Amino acid sequence: MNSCVIIGAQWGDEGKGKVVDLFTEAADLVVRFQGGNNAGHTLVVDGPEGPEKTVLHLIPSGILHAEKTNIIASGVVVDPEVLLGELEELAERGRPVPHERLRISRDAHVILPWHRALDLAREAARGESRIGTTGRGIGPTYEDRVARRGVRLRDLLDEERLRERLEQVLPERNALLAHLGAETFDLEDMVRHGLAFGERLAPWLDDCGAILENARRRGQRILLEGAQGTLLDIGHGTYPFVTSSHTISGGACVGAGLPPSAIGGVVGIAKAYCTRVGSGPFPTELEDADGDTLRANGHEFGATTGRPRRCGWFDVPAMRFAHRVNGFTGLAITKLDVLTGFSRVRICTAYVVDGERVDVADPDGTVLERAVPVYEDLPGWSEDITGAQTLDDLPPHARGLLDRIAELTGIPVDLVSVGPNRAQTIVLTRPFGA
Ligand code: GDP
Repeated sequence: MNSCVIIGAQWGDEGKGKVVDLFTEAADLVVRFQGGNNAGHTLVVDGPEGPEKTVLHLIPSGILHAEKTNIIASGVVVDPEVLLGELEELAERGRPVPHERLRISRDAHVILPWHRALDLAREAARGESRIGTTGRGIGPTYEDRVARRGVRLRDLLDEERLRERLEQVLPERNALLAHLGAETFDLEDMVRHGLAFGERLAPWLDDCGAILENARRRGQRILLEGAQGTLLDIGHGTYPFVTSSHTISGGACVGAGLPPSAIGGVVGIAKAYCTRVGSGPFPTELEDADGDTLRANGHEFGATTGRPRRCGWFDVPAMRFAHRVNGFTGLAITKLDVLTGFSRVRICTAYVVDGERVDVADPDGTVLERAVPVYEDLPGWSEDITGAQTLDDLPPHARGLLDRIAELTGIPVDLVSVGPNRAQTIVLTRPFGA
């Protein structure tokens, strides 16, 4: 199994960072294939005065491992300012990134200042019905890409080409911005701005498809790290409360330019409960003391916004749907420790929608909104599990929950996370099946 995709199996924030970090150790290449700087990895780096926290939004976390090649593939939308900012921050912390360790697809689309302005202006105009976008211009950039009027990184290297691209898109975007009462942008300013970024980014740009092909030929291990989660997929999630890219395993092929036959493992990351940020249906949501306990114990507050996340019990119908679209070869169950102390733990095993029992979620917003969870109650545990290294170290009821999740979803559990640190992990199947 030379290529492995890591996918958020729920609504994002599943704790992918830690699992990606574990898998990265065993990989030769780490690839981001979708999304933009709306993802975030908190990494602890040893600095001159002890461990320091660094948050990377765009650069794969493999950058902190000296010998790995990191790839930002063409499915990602790149904000040059954010990217250069991350590179500078790493350099300031004594971790300069050599060009050969970070390769960026020339075909990745560029987030430009008006994309951010448009994102913010539109979200403000939506008022109550806002979709909770991060305002980083990611949606508008994907929109321009699909409309065939986007600007790719390679366009920033050629003045004539860039001006031509901008002449096509900017007047229309400016008209919309003016209509929304937002600032507009000057074409010549944008050309200058784009070329300046192009010059700085040129040494990192590459044909990433060719790099991946060579790596495969040499039998190297490729880790493809997904951002956000399955139920936020543009085509298969709870539309319209979704992100603007394909977050499912097939998205890894599309976004990285890898054939489906190249993918060996598909590991779904899922919390032992569920959370969701922003609006949209969420059948197992708890608006009671149990929800507050999950939020407090799991520190379920947005990393950048501090917004409380909505919390609820583990949702099997949603996981069965996630399995259908991703074809998981294994699950990594995270944050099991957060359930410690509950006298009983619930799992949603099915929904009732309009009087009918449903075993697999239909993520359509209006259907999911009407889904009433059917719960199975399992006995809880109160023992501290944060030091568990094997399944035998877990109390029987914690093991019982894992067994039940595997049984009801039909997906084997490969890994269990019992705390935020790397050592707080029970590895049942080694990364890449090694
Ligand atoms: P991502 O958005 O899916 O990449 O999620 P993150 O990697 O940002 O993880 C969310 C938070 O959960 C981070 O602060 C992690 O340190 C924390 N975390 C990850 N796994 C566990 C776990 O098993 N237990 C606890 N208590 N925290 C965890």
